[in-house]
Amino acid sequence: MRKLDGKTVFITGGLSGIGKACALNAALEGANVAVADLKGGEMEATMEELKKLNSKAIFMDCDVSDFKQVHEAIQKVISSFGTLDVALNNAGIGGEAGRVGELSEQSWLKVIGVNLNCVFTCMRHELEIMLKQKNGVIVNMSSILGKVGFAGSSHYTAAKHAVLGLTQTAALEYATEGIRINAICPGFIETPLLTKAGIEGDAAIKQMIVDKHPMNRLGKSEEVAKGFIFLASEDSSFITGTALEIDGGYLAV
Ligand code: NAP
Repeated sequence: MRKLDGKTVFITGGLSGIGKACALNAALEGANVAVADLKGGEMEATMEELKKLNSKAIFMDCDVSDFKQVHEAIQKVISSFGTLDVALNNAGIGGEAGRVGELSEQSWLKVIGVNLNCVFTCMRHELEIMLKQKNGVIVNMSSILGKVGFAGSSHYTAAKHAVLGLTQTAALEYATEGIRINAICPGFIETPLLTKAGIEGDAAIKQMIVDKHPMNRLGKSEEVAKGFIFLASEDSSFITGTALEIDGGYLAV
């Protein structure tokens, strides 16, 4: 028996990096996987990989900052599979770097919008279904930067801190309704997000970040996916409101 046999798993930002690894691992564990992401170059290849593992994978072209698109995506999950058992609210962006006094309002609003408001939007729709089912698991992707600051990324750290508050509060609100809600706090993970943020292309910055991890390396998406499968499955049946740190010791310093 695999850990997610027959379960329906909905993943935002599932075409790339951490979300993609979680989608592939969920499929390996027997789940039907519904990926919601911005349609891009990786779409066909990722869906092909998923279908090799699980013929019931579906893709939804969905901007998670659009309330209506998220509603339609969740409806499509239900019409395709009948249930929504696990949701991973993972889509996120890094945003421009800059000190608080220098960040543009536009940049602030964009990062808070995708990394925080969209998690609320997704939870809003997911909970509607899970409440009717009296069953479900939600995992929100926060970060080590949901627990500590990082100079130049106040918008990102503020959003990721807030995701933890949202996770804990929702966990309390739905604890007796059969719905578990947890978060993951990854350290720096080698994904396209780091390339977009200019970290992969700058050896000095990359080394500075590696040095912050006592294990002396960055993490891999696969390592975050293992934590996701734990939180998504019955292995974590008595865990709600927690934030699982997968960070090579970053927060232990
Ligand atoms: P990634 O490789 O860039 O993947 C993020 C995915 O989300 C991409 O497919 C992206 O599409 C999609 N996305 C962005 N905005 C969206 C929107 N409005 N609607 C739908 N999809 C959207 O990044 P990642 O590193 O895997 O990050 C995944 C999550 O982990 C994020 O929440 C991030 O903050 C968090 N995290 C990452 C790290 C790290 O070091 N990588 C550490 C801690 C936490 P496009 O590619 O088209 O933009």
